[in-house]
Amino acid sequence: MTDSQHQHPSPTRLVVLAGPTAVGKGTVAAAIREHHPEVWISVSATTRKPRPGEADGVHYWFVSDGEFDRMVAEGELLEWAVVHQAARYGTPRAPVEATLASGRPAMLEIDLQGARQVRETMPEALFVFLKPPSWDELVRRLVGRGTESEAERERRLATARDELAAEAEFDLTIVNHEVRVAADQLVTLMTLGPDASSHD
Ligand code: 5GP
Repeated sequence: MTDSQHQHPSPTRLVVLAGPTAVGKGTVAAAIREHHPEVWISVSATTRKPRPGEADGVHYWFVSDGEFDRMVAEGELLEWAVVHQAARYGTPRAPVEATLASGRPAMLEIDLQGARQVRETMPEALFVFLKPPSWDELVRRLVGRGTESEAERERRLATARDELAAEAEFDLTIVNHEVRVAADQLVTLMTLGPDASSHD
């Protein structure tokens, strides 16, 4: 990656949003989906089971282990990772490429391991780190969500501690104080480019 690539992200405006577990990446993505339909958000494939209220093809493509193996073997995923030692998640490549070719702003909401892979293959993307206002607030959100078992929560908090340390790898940081504000900041980046923010 050259400096000029780093400082002049592509006009395709691909934003990769990552950050620690429970920081609210999914909630911010949902706000963008609702209020900014001009932005396309990638739907990941996962081997995890759906939670109540999650729909196939909307929140994720819920696939079997065998189907995920096939997608990996056939090179259908732009990136993929085992997240929280629990399930595999990956970004289907073809819809991302089609969206970028059409010029529509696009966003991936993925974990840190996935963001690092995309950094290798698409360094022109803009990498945004979503950060909680504080560690205590992150713990509060994870507990408040109530979707994980105690053991699962402990595992996710351990991962989150490592993930917070990765902020420096990103082009810029957004602090998720208010979901709508964070969503609007991201959309401004996608539609006007990083020059519209304090990013250098
Ligand atoms: P959850 O199971 O709570 O929906 O998501 C768990 C984690 O998986 C989140 O940190 C989310 O960002 C990450 N994730 C979701 N989709 C993808 C993907 O396609 N690739 C990668 N690497 N991580 C993903």
